[in-house]
Amino acid sequence: MKKVILSVCVLLVGFSSLIQAQHIKSPSEFLGYELGTRFTRHHKVVDYFKYVSSISKNVKLEKYGETNEFRPLYVVYISSEENIANIENIRENNLKQAGIVQGTAALKTGIVWLSYNVHGNEASSTEAAMQTMYTLITTKSEWLKNTLVIIDPCVNPDGRDRYVNWYNQTKSTPYDTNPDAIEHHEPWPGGRPNHYLFDLNRDWAWATQVETQQRLMVYNKWLPHVHVDFHEQYINNPYYFAPAVEPFHEIITDWQRSFQTQIGKNHAKYFDKNGWRYFTKESFDLFYPSYGDTYPTYMGAVGMTYEQAGHGKAGLGIDLANGAVLTLVDRVKHHTTTGLSTVEVASKNTTKLITEFGKFFNNTNLKYKNYIVRGNHTKINQVVSLLNKHQINSYRASQKTIKAFDYYTGTTKSVRINSGDLVISTNQPKGKMVKVLFEPEAKLSDSLTYDITAWSIPFAYGLHGFATTYSIEKSSTTPQTEIVKNNIQKTAYAYVCKWDEVADAAFLGKLLEADFKVRFSHKKFSVDGNQFERGSLVILRGENKHLQNFDELITDISNQMNEKLTPASTGFVDYGADFGSDYVAFIEHKKVAVISGEGTSSLSFGEIWHFFETQLQYPLHIINTAYFNHTDLDEYNVLILPNGFRASEKQLKKITSFAEKGGNVIAIGSALNSFADKEGFNLKRKKDDDESDEDDTAKKDMKKLFIPYNQLERESVKSSITGSIFKSTIDNTHPLAYGYTNTYYSLKLSASAYDVLEDGFNVGYFPEGTTTTSGFAGVEALEKVQNSLLFGIEYQGKGKIIYMVDNPLFRSFWEHGKLFVANAIFFN
Ligand SMILES: [Zn+2]
Repeated sequence: MKKVILSVCVLLVGFSSLIQAQHIKSPSEFLGYELGTRFTRHHKVVDYFKYVSSISKNVKLEKYGETNEFRPLYVVYISSEENIANIENIRENNLKQAGIVQGTAALKTGIVWLSYNVHGNEASSTEAAMQTMYTLITTKSEWLKNTLVIIDPCVNPDGRDRYVNWYNQTKSTPYDTNPDAIEHHEPWPGGRPNHYLFDLNRDWAWATQVETQQRLMVYNKWLPHVHVDFHEQYINNPYYFAPAVEPFHEIITDWQRSFQTQIGKNHAKYFDKNGWRYFTKESFDLFYPSYGDTYPTYMGAVGMTYEQAGHGKAGLGIDLANGAVLTLVDRVKHHTTTGLSTVEVASKNTTKLITEFGKFFNNTNLKYKNYIVRGNHTKINQVVSLLNKHQINSYRASQKTIKAFDYYTGTTKSVRINSGDLVISTNQPKGKMVKVLFEPEAKLSDSLTYDITAWSIPFAYGLHGFATTYSIEKSSTTPQTEIVKNNIQKTAYAYVCKWDEVADAAFLGKLLEADFKVRFSHKKFSVDGNQFERGSLVILRGENKHLQNFDELITDISNQMNEKLTPASTGFVDYGADFGSDYVAFIEHKKVAVISGEGTSSLSFGEIWHFFETQLQYPLHIINTAYFNHTDLDEYNVLILPNGFRASEKQLKKITSFAEKGGNVIAIGSALNSFADKEGFNLKRKKDDDESDEDDTAKKDMKKLFIPYNQLERESVKSSITGSIFKSTIDNTHPLAYGYTNTYYSLKLSASAYDVLEDGFNVGYFPEGTTTTSGFAGVEALEKVQNSLLFGIEYQGKGKIIYMVDNPLFRSFWEHGKLFVANAIFFN
């Protein structure tokens, strides 16, 4: 009898799990087409994840945000029923393991996070995300007993849908594998970036984009042990997986390195069996901290990039050089295989994974115990807000004198700590990330890297940095963010506002939009005993009589924007220029246009667009290169040429005539080549030594002939700069540099260099003897930096062309450069 009951029970249990298995539709069944035979639009992907989470107890779905185009962002938690029921406990124990939450950890579950489709047009991976979840819960559930898998099926839904919608509209039926077919040629800007055309795989550390900001909140709540970022590369490339190649950042642990290899070998097993081509240990390094492999690595995970052939070129199928056809079906299969294999290895090594993860957060061996930043109050607050995004702690120290390394002089000396200085200790769980972000110079184990090699936050934010090798006591008082409250001053002759950061420019923009008449002072001045620097804004009551409620309006706007207004009782200054002087110049309400579209860098255009809409909050008119020639530029005061734009002869005439009539042209990065070495312009490209001296050329060319073939790539490094910090000299008496001191640390992004202008203003330049402050520069490239231009102005008729050699808006993280752009727009 007992036996009978038992077997009935077994039957029932078996039957119920059978019901569950039968009831979960595969992606193909749910979507109504074989996975990989179409690109699935984002909302259908979301539907599938919602569907599975609604019927499976192994799956929990969580919405963590929304994109600029209002698409939802989700993560899905996949594990055993028991773990899912216990998920909050696992999370808390994991943070205990990292030392972020106090207490002894009792963690038995490994955490693997799989991120798909950060580049929107690398679209096979989101399809693979669906299949990976399905396989895990149906046939690989034994791995889920000790492993929690977190899947972000689509990091960049706006980019993905931009690609998928375009592809679906464009493709032939059946699809055309001929590489010439239109379906293999994505139009500008392509689906890779997000709405503002930012590369989200360069944004993890700076978190300038809403997708990143919202993702970091959930990521830092979890801190997985393994993180994979799924990508696609050129169509003829084999599959790439870990281990990565040098340079590795020095904080990467031996464990992180060796586990990459262990995972890679497991993938290789499956790829070998199927006869799929792959490579490891090449091309993809682990240095720049803002990638989907490095950021997780610096936060304790084994972070990896996997690359399948395909991206926006491949469509549903494309002919390859070797005569084979690469199909979406294959691409999905490969990404599914590596995703599953990653979970398999993690599941087989859970105990070790958890132990080593815990060890990562011990930071007692770091040389510098603290980084200290000093300077502008608002910029310090910006640093605090960036640190908050990474859940990194900072504090203010008590006033005392200490020994510290000075970023400006490169020496260790006595420094008096001020109450406003911000201290960021490495003696906290995320101390390694603190080191990566703040150290004056990251140790580069190999100069062959294709991203920037320097990013130190004090330089990026224009703050004075210090580092100490011992701990500093916390001050008992925590300064609160100052909330400005201006009061109406009906007797004021004028209101005055300082000018030294983008927030001041945003305030000016708001005033101009509200029809205020605003002036700025070309001289330092003092009024009623208050001192102001060049560029300070002066708003005269007598000039704003057209505004009803002038005082109420201006105090409202300034309070809203947290801008301090100083009422002035008189226009008669103690020193400087009186408010009626021509030195207190009128600011025109500028109408600004930017060129976008084919022939411009979508990244650079996106940075300008994002800057205007999210920071400056000032109207920007976007003109596409397709009809630029027919646009009436008389409508505008400022025209911005993004990096990558190269004017045709006709366009150059049009731009020159715009300037001659009084327009301001701002050329960024390689857009300078529209003017360089052209008749009628002073701008001259610095030639490579080989180009300038014939004898030398012969010598160098001979030398080049004997460079061993296997060293050619290394040799090319000598003439390259991929992103390093250089100290420039600034003429801060020129309006373009108001709000700055006479030095500025610039992030130089290429080896292109221009001579200082013979006729015009050299507002920023790199003097003779310049070396890198931080980062790598090849010897030949460094030679060209000497006496080269950074910011220059050349007059054309009534207007001017403003040259910005280094792009101050690059990835929107070089906060200190942004005021140059505002100055270029508003100050004549
Ligand atoms: Zn990619």
